[in-house]
Amino acid sequence: MIVMKFGGSSVADAACMREVAALALEALPQAPLVVLSATAKTTDTLFEAARRAEDGDLDAAMALHRGLMERHRGIAGDLFPQGLPAELDAALAELGGELDLLLRGVALLRELSPRSMDAIASIGERLSTRILAAHLGAAWVDARTVVRTDDSFGCGRPQFKELAALAAERLAPLLGPGRVVVTQGYIGATARGLTTTLGRGGSDYSAALYGAALGAGDIQIWTDVEGVLTCDPRIVPEAQPIAELSFAEAAELAAFGAKVLHPATIQPAVEAGIPVTVRHTRRPHGRFTTITAEVVTGRPITALASRGPVTVLTVASANMLNQSGFLASLFQVFSRHKISVDLIATAEVSVSLTVDADAPLEALLEDLEQFATVGVARDRTIVAIVGERLKLTPGVTGRTFGALRDINVEMISMGANEINLSIVVRQEDAHPALRALHAALIEGSAS
Ligand code: ADP
Ligand code: ASP
Ligand code: MG
Repeated sequence: MIVMKFGGSSVADAACMREVAALALEALPQAPLVVLSATAKTTDTLFEAARRAEDGDLDAAMALHRGLMERHRGIAGDLFPQGLPAELDAALAELGGELDLLLRGVALLRELSPRSMDAIASIGERLSTRILAAHLGAAWVDARTVVRTDDSFGCGRPQFKELAALAAERLAPLLGPGRVVVTQGYIGATARGLTTTLGRGGSDYSAALYGAALGAGDIQIWTDVEGVLTCDPRIVPEAQPIAELSFAEAAELAAFGAKVLHPATIQPAVEAGIPVTVRHTRRPHGRFTTITAEVVTGRPITALASRGPVTVLTVASANMLNQSGFLASLFQVFSRHKISVDLIATAEVSVSLTVDADAPLEALLEDLEQFATVGVARDRTIVAIVGERLKLTPGVTGRTFGALRDINVEMISMGANEINLSIVVRQEDAHPALRALHAALIEGSAS
């Protein structure tokens, strides 16, 4: 079997739904499991409606609810000009009713827990999949009966063993050549049946989880670009699709901000040794990217990515000099405050680290200042240069800093796997830095 995951932009309207259906039908001999996102902007709208309800503005929340339901009924109406099948009509009405109750509940309590947010967010994928399954006359499976997660609402962690058993029991019997099965990305449920999500963009992760659990031959991520490109095309229009990418490169790119893949996607695929392909829904026979364990190319550098804003903390202490255990106690403080560190660079008497811009720093800083002085630099961006041959290619650092001669580089860190050279710049310098690096390292080389 294969997994075909379609993102929000691939199911924006009825025309898109038809294209998705045609691609699924084309893949019939391969026993496709279609994993669908919510339609474009729906998840954002659900978040917005939930926040309005939390603010007590039920009218605004209900207006968003109405707009959302009308849009979905509009798409369904286009696909079924003779009138909706009763089952679809009932399913849409039920989801509309559920969203209504959830929003009223939030507004009444003026309280929006991650648990309520997940229940509300799940409506998006449940709507889109109901419509596509009806259009295809395909089996519809509620992902919450398969994707078992823990109770970390908002970023549920999959329980791999249970998930594999549930997939074998509930999905495998439905799959086979000549049949399409449709299910949701992004959502799952706890052992108690409470709805969870895998975090924003999590449908890619769902696709990989299903693929690994079911032993798929291919995990296909269908989106609005011709694969993984050498940089985000919104920042660097010259970015080109990459035909072959290694799991390690793809994981680095995703972790450092290439939105085209959710950062967790690669891990289940790696473990199961299943290739992941990234393709353009509107140009199905165009170029695409294949991600596999080993890729042998001569290119020195594969792609660039960026993630921000981040905050750089520079921890300096005279005691650090020659004192063993300084780093251990430093990281204990971060661990105690549950703040995760991304990049690290050490010097003789100071350590620089990056943390998420929204990490709660007040209590952490208080503890750190007991034994060190701490500098805080906000609104920084990490720019990552990724390539399997980075470590083998002489002159990369020279070309990197040559390209960045007009930009102030505040921190440098080479990943331990030596396929990622990361630099930290001011947020306003990030786009110029990416464009300069792309021109010098990628356009300028025969990659
Ligand atoms: P979907 O809704 O299909 O999941 P996303 O919007 O999540 O799609 O991801 C696709 C988008 O990711 C592209 O439209 C592009 O703007 C952005 N993107 C960022 N970095 C890259 C990259 N290196 N290669 C391709 N796309 C990228
Ligand atoms: N619909 C979810 C989101 O917008 C999940 C996804 O599309 O991957 O975040
Ligand atoms: Mg996405």
